[in-house]
Amino acid sequence: MSDNRLQFDGARVLADLNALRGIGAYKTGVHKPTFSEPHMRSLEWLAQRLAEAGLAVAIDGIGNVFGTSTKSGPKLLAGSHLESQNFAGWLDGPLGVVYALEAARVVNPDSNVNGSVEVAAWCDEEGHFGHFLGSRSYVGGVTEADIDAARDRNSGRTMREALRDVGLAGRARAKAERGRHIGYIEAHIEQGRTLESGDLRIGVVTSIVGIWQYRITFSGEQNHAGTTRMDVRKDAGLALTRFCVDIDDRFPKACGPRTVWTTGRITLDPGAPSIIPGGAEMLFQMRDDDPAVIDRLEDLLRSMAADVTAQGRCSVAVERLRTGIPAMMDATFQHAIEAASAVFAGGRSVRMPSGAGHDAQVLATIMPAGMMFVPSIGGISHHWSENTDDADIVTGAQVFVEACRRLLAE
Ligand SMILES: [Zn+2]
Repeated sequence: MSDNRLQFDGARVLADLNALRGIGAYKTGVHKPTFSEPHMRSLEWLAQRLAEAGLAVAIDGIGNVFGTSTKSGPKLLAGSHLESQNFAGWLDGPLGVVYALEAARVVNPDSNVNGSVEVAAWCDEEGHFGHFLGSRSYVGGVTEADIDAARDRNSGRTMREALRDVGLAGRARAKAERGRHIGYIEAHIEQGRTLESGDLRIGVVTSIVGIWQYRITFSGEQNHAGTTRMDVRKDAGLALTRFCVDIDDRFPKACGPRTVWTTGRITLDPGAPSIIPGGAEMLFQMRDDDPAVIDRLEDLLRSMAADVTAQGRCSVAVERLRTGIPAMMDATFQHAIEAASAVFAGGRSVRMPSGAGHDAQVLATIMPAGMMFVPSIGGISHHWSENTDDADIVTGAQVFVEACRRLLAE
């Protein structure tokens, strides 16, 4: 075993990230939808690097990549994801995977460290086929029927077809071995401006919000836009827009300090200029790290819908499509990341919640979990121009490796 394998190497981290950027490159970012050719090539690239780092490699039946260690002692699981949003950034996902790889390279051969880092790249964190399918499969939250039902949101291709096309059909899905890991750690770009605007280097994540999604359907009466008098109309589109305004008036009095809500899509039926809409539908989303807050807001939403229905012009139905999995990050992990930041980032760290979803919230359902952020230039993400200063990438990697060491030493 050569000595340089024990040495943290920032240039190697940058070279690895750039190698991944070169697979499926788009402008300065990447285009790697789940199970696309560049995504699969990225998984193969990782498999080779993990093997070189002395880990046993497996790609499971849902496209998760694992690098496992035979070294005795405690094991820490680390990772993120390798697919991207469409025409998006180079660091969202790969940063955490490459940090985990570097930690395994540096920590595992070190005889002074009792234990090892194991690496995971979770499939489809970006939700081309579902949400968190790879990590949820690992924690036992995905059934075969869920996979039967999953489709690519862009092409409509079924997940079964996609798995067959990339040669993963029929392969077993890896399940978490309870008690194997002391916990899970993930690094990610912040995708916001908190760190940049505070001239900070590291975000110590305290919690990850859950995402709740709803379909709210308005049923009125379709009719002629010229001959139907205003006082007798049952305009579902108007009822919907009033409802949106009502949400914005009433939610601030019932929400938590960081609750956010969005109406992301509105459709009118039939959606023509000379027809009063008889039907209208909105997709509505709320995010918070406290399910009690969401319970309260959902009750409010349903009572507002009942009020509109009681007025008699339009009936409103509220259907929950997705239930959030908010997660609190483990105190020991937060402390280890903070202590590592004191050594390698001059203490320029801050504790902060994550408004974006990450695989760590899924892993947190079965083991202690922690997350750290590095700055995003301009807060930009889910866009090909997403970027982080090389110096910040290297500092983050050093903090991450040190946090892994500390967690294994606990
Ligand atoms: Zn991500």
